[in-house]
Amino acid sequence: MNFDFSEEQVLLRKTVRQFVDHEIIPHMAKWELDGAFDPAIWKRLADLGLMGVCIPEKYGGSGMDYNSLAIVCEELERGDTAFRTAVSVHTGLNSMTLMQWATEEQKVKYLLPQAIGEKIGAFGLTEPGAGSDVASMSTVAVLDGDDYILNGQKTWISLCDVADHFIVFAYTDKSKKHHGISAFIVERTLDGFSSKAIKGKYGIKSGNTGELFFDNMRVPKENLLGKEGEGFKIAMSALDNGRFTVAAGAVGLSIACLEASVKYSKERQTFGKEIGRHQLVQQMIAKMEAGLQMSRLLVYRVGELKNKGVRNTRETSLAKWQACDFANKAADDAVQIHGAYGYSDEYPVARYLRNSKAPVIYEGTREIHTIMQAEYVLGYREDKTLSNMLPKWPFDE
Ligand SMILES: Cc1cc2nc3c(=O)[nH]c(=O)nc-3n(C[C@H](O)[C@H](O)[C@H](O)COP(=O)(O)OP(=O)(O)OC[C@H]3O[C@@H](n4cnc5c(N)ncnc54)[C@H](O)[C@@H]3O)c2cc1C
Repeated sequence: MNFDFSEEQVLLRKTVRQFVDHEIIPHMAKWELDGAFDPAIWKRLADLGLMGVCIPEKYGGSGMDYNSLAIVCEELERGDTAFRTAVSVHTGLNSMTLMQWATEEQKVKYLLPQAIGEKIGAFGLTEPGAGSDVASMSTVAVLDGDDYILNGQKTWISLCDVADHFIVFAYTDKSKKHHGISAFIVERTLDGFSSKAIKGKYGIKSGNTGELFFDNMRVPKENLLGKEGEGFKIAMSALDNGRFTVAAGAVGLSIACLEASVKYSKERQTFGKEIGRHQLVQQMIAKMEAGLQMSRLLVYRVGELKNKGVRNTRETSLAKWQACDFANKAADDAVQIHGAYGYSDEYPVARYLRNSKAPVIYEGTREIHTIMQAEYVLGYREDKTLSNMLPKWPFDE
């Protein structure tokens, strides 16, 4: 395995870091209070080619490899989790799923405008009564002439009020359980579609999250993604990609925690010395560093597997679980190191702690990943190919 970054990747990291330092971090306090970031950021992300990282150039993407996407996610989340979540949803859960499952016509119509940043994509799987237990969803789709009629509701959907296109899951045949779920490309402009933001979130306050409602919404038959009944497989393949971006972002959050903690440890003095000289503070710093480096190894290994076109559900789950847990612990310790000042908005660490919680819940909770890992090791879960794989990198144009 080669751990060297290419010149292109080094430049990409530098570019995204500068963008985050100059155009995101200085505005975070305001955007947190506003409950939304400036929508002009979408255009800037598109200008920098960050809306289509690892999407082939022929579909409007920048054609970079999967670890380049990890670098982008890492650097964005060093700024704030809302931006990495946006890329996770737009690229990881939506565009990469279209890349795997869409017909050529669907790719031209939906993937291409998303990859160039003209349109924003999102992903609607979770329902009020169906989170970890996907198959308990209630949304249904009934074929009627040339359309499917969708009725139901989704909740906790990132970019619910912002996205133009959604990949939405619904039962076309409930008697078949998992095998009766289908996936649809849904445009916001369809009659019967509405959305509503959830107010009072604990973290990711500048990000948009909420509900989708489908009231006799007619979706053209040609917007079925994959075949009828393939929805569960499509959802799981999407999560293989989304979880990779979440894991990479968690590395960025750990970096942010470490940077803030190192700075404060050298500024703050107690008992006649910098707090960084106290061994118990050093222990927290050392654990942050260890968590960060271990997470990085897990994430870049998954990127390499994706580059080779190798199945990676097991490795992605491990990376997502561990990187998010490490980041959550790093954020908790970062607040601890800042003492009472950490418990305010004077420093960014309270925001890091709030933000670090959602990634431990979404795209498979900590408990779901724990179960997955145990089942793989015990041989109760087969590491078989559930889905068609992402294209190998470099992409065959
Ligand atoms: C900020 C944010 C953004 C989100 N964005 C999206 C999005 O864009 N699209 C989308 O579709 N969803 C999104 N989600 C939803 C997210 O994926 C779900 O919240 C997640 O899958 C968990 O589902 P749940 O909240 O219903 O919890 P539940 O599934 O009800 O779980 C509740 C608790 O029970 C535990 N539990 C459940 N089953 C088991 C089990 N078998 N064994 C042990 N413990 C178990 C869980 O680990 C958890 O601790 C988002 C959530 C958040 C917070």
